[in-house]
Amino acid sequence: MAHSVAQEGSDVPTELVGSGWFWLHNAPKWHYFLANGNSLCGRWMTFGRAFEQGNDGSPDNCAACRKKLEKIKAKTALPETQPETPSQSRKGE
Ligand SMILES: [Zn+2]
Repeated sequence: MAHSVAQEGSDVPTELVGSGWFWLHNAPKWHYFLANGNSLCGRWMTFGRAFEQGNDGSPDNCAACRKKLEKIKAKTALPETQPETPSQSRKGE
């Protein structure tokens, strides 16, 4: 159990602050909810606030929520420098 609540100042992307995984009693899986209470897969909503971070790869997680979360994290975690772009030019060779 590596769950903790997302907070500002942590390494959580800004749009994920206040969000996290949450298990509803009538849902078979954990779903990822944004701070507005809507799940990433769009099938659920909750007024709960006891969201948890971590365990993103758990088999108990909704697959649709997990994929969307991965996209958000990939999008917001872009490095300032792009290491795969070679900047070494060989002008004048
Ligand atoms: Zn879901």
